[in-house]
Amino acid sequence: MKCHTPDCTGEHQTQPISHAVIYRERTIVFHGVPAEVCPECGEAVLIEETTLHLEGLLRRKARAKGAAFAYEA
Ligand SMILES: [Zn+2]
Repeated sequence: MKCHTPDCTGEHQTQPISHAVIYRERTIVFHGVPAEVCPECGEAVLIEETTLHLEGLLRRKARAKGAAFAYEA
């Protein structure tokens, strides 16, 4: 996928990132989230499927204590 940033010619590559989400006034970080990352400018984009999956994980994980979780596919 081509990068969306103006003037950037990078091609996005799928790679795991750490992604922080605010949920009920808590900041929760997921590690190993598959994202499309631009090697040129560092822009990271989550595909819709991943975002939806994260929401499901969030609802389950929010009951646990802690602020960082591994992304489970
Ligand atoms: Zn870029």
